[in-house]
Amino acid sequence: MKKTIKDLGDIQGKRVLVREDLNVPLNDSQEITDDTRIRAALPTINFLREKGAKVIVMAHLGRPKGQFKDELRLNPVAERLSKLLDSQVIKLDDCVGDEVKSRLEELKDGEVALLENIRFYKQETDNDADFAKQLSEMADIYVNDAFGAAHRAHASTEGVAKQLSPAVSGLLMEKELKALGGILEDPQRPFVAVVGGSKVSTKIGVLESLVNKVDTLVLGGGMTYTFLKAQGYEVGKSICETDKLDVAKDLMKKAEEKNVQLLISEDVLVADDFSQEANTKVVSAKEIPADMEGIDIGLKTRETIKNTLMNAKTILWNGPVGVFEINKFAEGTKAVAEAVAAATEQGASSVLGGGDTVAAIEKFGISPEAYTHISTGGGASLEFIEGKVLPGVAALDEPETANK
Ligand code: ADP
Ligand code: MG
Repeated sequence: MKKTIKDLGDIQGKRVLVREDLNVPLNDSQEITDDTRIRAALPTINFLREKGAKVIVMAHLGRPKGQFKDELRLNPVAERLSKLLDSQVIKLDDCVGDEVKSRLEELKDGEVALLENIRFYKQETDNDADFAKQLSEMADIYVNDAFGAAHRAHASTEGVAKQLSPAVSGLLMEKELKALGGILEDPQRPFVAVVGGSKVSTKIGVLESLVNKVDTLVLGGGMTYTFLKAQGYEVGKSICETDKLDVAKDLMKKAEEKNVQLLISEDVLVADDFSQEANTKVVSAKEIPADMEGIDIGLKTRETIKNTLMNAKTILWNGPVGVFEINKFAEGTKAVAEAVAAATEQGASSVLGGGDTVAAIEKFGISPEAYTHISTGGGASLEFIEGKVLPGVAALDEPETANK
């Protein structure tokens, strides 16, 4: 665990530079369509305000690729943040420079300023040391609360932490690390992971890490077919990575050696087209018709997964088990979402990660409260599960070495 803002002591009047993940979706009229990420940043910002700090927030929006782009300015974010904080956020039109500095000098205790989209500067993604220094000189303390950006070694996530001390985690960052770290390091057993998604190739690291930790590994989604093919079955037109058959075989072997139960679909929903109008039927996973494509888990598989989840004490779910974007193919993923919620209600700890997994929950209208923790960081949560060091976390102070 890293040092957090709760360990800082008296910060009245201190200038605190906070990296937040405020990368919200905007529609064509520059309106925010989902402010979850802004809301998730509130506890840290409010904590610092209440302690009388001068809060300077850094964030990125979209992919401006190192150029100033009017449509990616943070003005709508500043507006929403002001509303949610019930206090006017001072929006700056740049990230560094004399104008920014002089505006920040006027900042009063408990006030919040928001710098412009940090990715307007190429130096941000280059993790340029001079740029990080310029940023760090504007503050006394660095806080990283942007779990969703912590897998990137950028100037605002990693570079600044090296130049500014103390450098600590925010409350959201702490919550994410505790939730994900907790289940991976010391899970209550049985520990069941459900991993779906479209491809084996994007989940190899996750699967290889989890096979060392879980009691049961449930595989769903598009990668099912690579595993079925590796077992010698025909998969018709299903998504199948023929260059990953060895990876699949290897994983099956590892699971066997480690006594990990590997659940691959018994039956699947197949379709003759990738659309709501498709003809569909449920078939045994061993008998997929040559002219059809596996698109969702079947009814028996849903029942098996449900029973497995109801016996679990710890659940990690990443990746939809079917093409949930199309209603006709969403039932399997919905069944998993409901089963994880039911198991949680019954006392299991559940952690959900992955952009599409969270999108699926929202689509089904299931409350986030139905789960123990929903990770706000898509890519970052995957890398964390893979066991990779997140540079934005690694750069923060250890509790012992704080106030160096
Ligand atoms: P996450 O963002 O939660 O980590 P992924 O990005 O790995 O999830 O995978 C999500 C995608 O996987 C979805 O777009 C979904 O349509 C797709 N998918 C799931 N099952 C299948 C399948 N059987 N065939 C093709 N694509 C699938
Ligand atoms: Mg995804």
